[in-house]
Amino acid sequence: MITLLHPPKSSFAECLYPRKKGVFLHVQRELGEDGIVRILFDRNHSSANIFDEAALCELEEHITWIERNIVDVCGVYFESKKEKIFLAGADIKTLNAAPRKQLERIIGTGQVLFERIAQLPVPTVAMIHGACLGGGLELALACGWRMASSDKATRIGLPEVQLGIIPAWGGTTRLPKLIGLPNALSMILTGRQLSAKAALKLGVIDEIAARENFESHALEAVLRGRPTRKAHTLVNHSTAARLIRARASKDVLKKTHGNYPAPLKALEVAVKSLEVDVDTSLENERNAVLDLAETPETKNLIRAFLLQERAKKRVGGRPLAHKEAAVIGAGVMGAGIAYWLATRGYRVTLQDINNEATAAGMGRIHKNLEEAVARRVLTRLEARDAADRIFATSTPVSLERAGIVIEAATEKLAVKQAIFRDLSARTGPEAVLVTNTSALPIGEIVSDSGIVHPERILGMHFFNPVHRMPLVEVVRGAGSDPEAVRSVADFVRDIGKVPVVVADSPGFVVNRILMPCLMEAAGLFDRSIPVHEIDKAMVDFGMPMGPLRLLDEVGLDVALQVANTLSDAFPDRFTVPPILERMLDAGLFGRKCGAGFYAYEGKKQRPGIDAMACHRGMVRDEDSAVPMGERLVLLMVNEAARCLEEGVVTSPDDIDLAMLLGTGWAPFRGGPIRHARAAGIPGIVKKLEELACIEGPLYQPSPLLRRWENLETLLEPRRVS
Ligand code: NAD
Repeated sequence: MITLLHPPKSSFAECLYPRKKGVFLHVQRELGEDGIVRILFDRNHSSANIFDEAALCELEEHITWIERNIVDVCGVYFESKKEKIFLAGADIKTLNAAPRKQLERIIGTGQVLFERIAQLPVPTVAMIHGACLGGGLELALACGWRMASSDKATRIGLPEVQLGIIPAWGGTTRLPKLIGLPNALSMILTGRQLSAKAALKLGVIDEIAARENFESHALEAVLRGRPTRKAHTLVNHSTAARLIRARASKDVLKKTHGNYPAPLKALEVAVKSLEVDVDTSLENERNAVLDLAETPETKNLIRAFLLQERAKKRVGGRPLAHKEAAVIGAGVMGAGIAYWLATRGYRVTLQDINNEATAAGMGRIHKNLEEAVARRVLTRLEARDAADRIFATSTPVSLERAGIVIEAATEKLAVKQAIFRDLSARTGPEAVLVTNTSALPIGEIVSDSGIVHPERILGMHFFNPVHRMPLVEVVRGAGSDPEAVRSVADFVRDIGKVPVVVADSPGFVVNRILMPCLMEAAGLFDRSIPVHEIDKAMVDFGMPMGPLRLLDEVGLDVALQVANTLSDAFPDRFTVPPILERMLDAGLFGRKCGAGFYAYEGKKQRPGIDAMACHRGMVRDEDSAVPMGERLVLLMVNEAARCLEEGVVTSPDDIDLAMLLGTGWAPFRGGPIRHARAAGIPGIVKKLEELACIEGPLYQPSPLLRRWENLETLLEPRRVS
């Protein structure tokens, strides 16, 4: 096999990225004696392949070489040298920072390049192993053949709408023709990622092959000639397309409440692509992205993505002494955490107070494993291995080999103190001990004089359900060892979650900001506003569920404990609405017991308890100067400002990220601080003042909000992105 190390440079590439001969950044080319050109993606100093302008330029050089030497070329294979990534798509950082002209150039360069690949007069094969997303799939769609490995790392999709844009390197144009409009929309409008098997079923790829057999399969495929593909004449016919569009548009609006413009734009461009030529459709793609890029929704979605990427970067903390963990408490959270760790390869000792409790915990874990197998997240073998890694016990055993011990027992100070007293004597000297408390101050837990080395105890606040929620608040106690904080933050990253480091303050960030909204919602219900009206107001604002539904999901008992902690800490403004106690007395604990604010039947729920409201003669929403949804949001903005002022987090970005990931806070609005900045601080302060006059001190604007006469100028220097 000959390796050509001196590719001719195109003038475009040369002027933008002059570099030494023979040095590649992202793409290598090899021409075999068989006449096959192998294009190998292998971005330097990175575990991922992405397309930035430099990578596009390099690829362009190679395509130009192929075009010039086409008589010697029998076929072109596109492959990745990375372990788990084929091509992860465009470089979002560059796209985000690019002014309109540059963005237009990047989109145009990719479109022209991929079209040139599509026009090559020799067979072209994308050999997909690992993530093939966005621009990665668009490159593959420009090829004549696509084969993929059945490896778990292989995920195929067009996630652009999740970032508020649409696939614009030909994806929105080519996919409907390849797999039919309905199937293409099911991918483009949701951004969902498919396994190789699912992609084969839809016709996105032509074949599944083991990575090591890619070449022989590709050769066979090429020898067989162009695959005959379904024409999709019926579903892609203009009459059917019109109907499909109407239906899809209705579905999108139902799901997004009209808050996300990208899926509707994608729908429009995809449907039009069936009526116009490729060039016009590519132009439609380009214009759609240029328009969308300027919307606040897209800016907020991209910012959220970048904040998350930044939070995932390791900080070089000391690795845990052993890849073994212990979880104390096998309830909802303990079982969820043990499940998560075991599926990430950790050996876990799971301890509770008696056999019934440990058996119930293992029951939850087995249910999670079954569901993961059903959803094809785990194979049966992986699920069995994960179950085998968990050792459940109701008697204290040696935890000498545990690198980390996670306490997830009942939310009671005395219980937690007793557990840590015992743990500090029972664990190795290098073990990190963390509590999953929702709101109890770490300082109070470690104030127990029986605890040895309190500096290695900190908080690690997971969210429920653990396997779905990406956020973990890493709580730095006043006396916590900074090295332990870094270790735990990196441990969180290693297990695939996103850490936000917060100070030891009641409720930390997420519960502190959320709880005033939840308590006020319960109070409004008690003042005779129906459940569905309250929840609808927040869902319309963009929250994934209303506050009363959320209370049911969390459990009213757990919520009451957190609310009590906050009202003890901030008695001047937090009060716990009496309805919570009344509901608990009536056995209405929320979803876990089948009834709370809603009555649950299987997966369905309906408002169940309007009769419990004590009808204290609340002014109805339509009579209020500030609509209900807005007042609940104002409470969160106000509390977010207090957290910032008290230094619970170091930057406003951390607050937004924590709320986006910990509560699903309306992503297109970018989080409470971002939202406040967009809405205008003076208006917010004025509304809070009005509400404080009627409703009391809970609505009193925080001192920081009052000082933010011009939030933009004051926050700008502290903003990271
Ligand atoms: P849970 O009631 O479901 O489980 C608590 C478990 O702790 C029970 O199985 C109980 O038997 C066990 N336990 C009590 N004392 C113990 C001891 N001394 N040693 C070992 N086990 C003991 O509660 P949960 O919802 O899993 O909450 C656990 C912790 O996680 C609490 O601190 C809670 O605030 C926090 N948390 C809960 C949620 C949530 O949504 N439920 C979310 C985040 C954090």
